[in-house]
Amino acid sequence: MSARCLDGRTLAKQLQAELATHIAGVDSQPVLATLQLGDHPATTLFTRAQGTLATRLGLGYTSTQLPSDVTQAVVEAQLKAWNDDPGIHGIFVQNPMPPQIDPQCISAVINPLKDVEGITPHHTARRFFARARIGSCTALAVMALIESTGESLRGREAVVVGNSEIVGRPVGMLLLDQLATTTVCHIATNERGHLQEHIERAEILVAAVGKPSMIPGAWIREGAIVIDVGINVIDGHTVGDVEYDTAAARAAYITPVPGGVGPVTVTMVMKNVLEAYRAQHV
Ligand code: NAD
Repeated sequence: MSARCLDGRTLAKQLQAELATHIAGVDSQPVLATLQLGDHPATTLFTRAQGTLATRLGLGYTSTQLPSDVTQAVVEAQLKAWNDDPGIHGIFVQNPMPPQIDPQCISAVINPLKDVEGITPHHTARRFFARARIGSCTALAVMALIESTGESLRGREAVVVGNSEIVGRPVGMLLLDQLATTTVCHIATNERGHLQEHIERAEILVAAVGKPSMIPGAWIREGAIVIDVGINVIDGHTVGDVEYDTAAARAAYITPVPGGVGPVTVTMVMKNVLEAYRAQHV
């Protein structure tokens, strides 16, 4: 079998066209504010990509960058100012954050109505009950790519590798919502030597670790849907967590890296801004 490439750029363009139409139809311009802490290159790239796309889709956009030694109090003051500003509809804090910043406290400060990452306790709780209006942008992107295959998830074996709060866990919850039989693997699964047996069972595999080509293609089940979230830069080249060529020879569908999950994720941020705007204008 040779896998069909799940091209995130094409899917993102389709979603963006629909989104631009919806944005053009609202009464005033929804505005996204992003906060970058420090100058991590990946964060700078993502911030720039958000700004470019927001503007192209007709959203307003503002971004603030604070130094890497910024204090928690200063970050919270910035977020509270945006909470109180009726001209800001969506707030996004870029990851990774410097070590002195507590991400959980940050999520608790953002007004849930303006949370466009689905990280506030309000949205996290709603996700548990499968009633989230705003979801993790990356998790929504993963689900949109799976949905684009037209395959039903009901009763299928889904395996997520990675259990982070912003990717692995929310993906696991969304797969469960679709009644996939869902296993979430993580570092300890690997320590016990059980990773391979779980991955070999996966009809749907989502890799979200951040280790270059750590999942051998030979582990991929024939006919699987493989979604590679990992972004790893080696010698200037970006690769995913899955060994692409050998995996593509076995899978039915596979996302490339780059050009898979990434473009859809940034689109989901914009979708969430529109959702947030609507929730503030009911
Ligand atoms: P993270 O570091 O917060 O979490 C990594 C997860 O991998 C943890 O759950 C950890 O337990 C698990 N892990 C680590 N080593 C492992 C091993 N050997 N075997 C099994 N599990 C292991 O990372 P994150 O923020 O969840 O991001 C994961 C990857 O996804 C990174 O490469 C990141 O750059 C990428 N990412 C991509 C997008 C996108 O839009 N494409 C968005 C967010 C993150």
